[in-house]
Amino acid sequence: MGIEEKLPSGVLLTTVEGVAGYFRKASFWPATFGLACCAIEMMTSGAPRWDTGRFGMEVFRASPRQADLMIVAGRVSQKMAPVLRQIYDQMAEPKWVLAMGVCASSGGMFNNYAIVQGVDHVVPVDMYLPGCPPRPEMLIDAILKLHDQVQHTKLGANRQAQIRELEAEGLVA
Ligand code: SF4
Repeated sequence: MGIEEKLPSGVLLTTVEGVAGYFRKASFWPATFGLACCAIEMMTSGAPRWDTGRFGMEVFRASPRQADLMIVAGRVSQKMAPVLRQIYDQMAEPKWVLAMGVCASSGGMFNNYAIVQGVDHVVPVDMYLPGCPPRPEMLIDAILKLHDQVQHTKLGANRQAQIRELEAEGLVA
């Protein structure tokens, strides 16, 4: 009897996806940029007191081509939106976006012509983090929730559709 007949259907592929998901979540490389006051808290989270390096992401990359996580830390001005989109386009797949703070998530207090009313008008967002500004431990909590998404994402599939499925199954928050 061949190994294919002994193992449950799809077990090998599932195992490879599990391993890939584990290594992906444990090696986030965020792009280096900040837009406003939330960026101060983001930078603090990488410092020794909070130490995001514990979760495999101490290396903020100066080149978007080496990054797979975009943390949008602060309000996005209309003038900055095309630049932000260009950085996102330069990041290789698979990539994830975290909207940090109420300004990045929805425009926040800046309900005016100059500010994009949520960065999801510019790039797809995988995780929204409320707060003004969110404290470093809140950012770490959001990153760990994003880890759950990354861990359960199947290889090569439509990620946004998968995330909706995972949310419906209660596997991610
Ligand atoms: Fe600044 Fe608050 Fe907006 Fe963050 S959410 S960019 S701290 S005003």
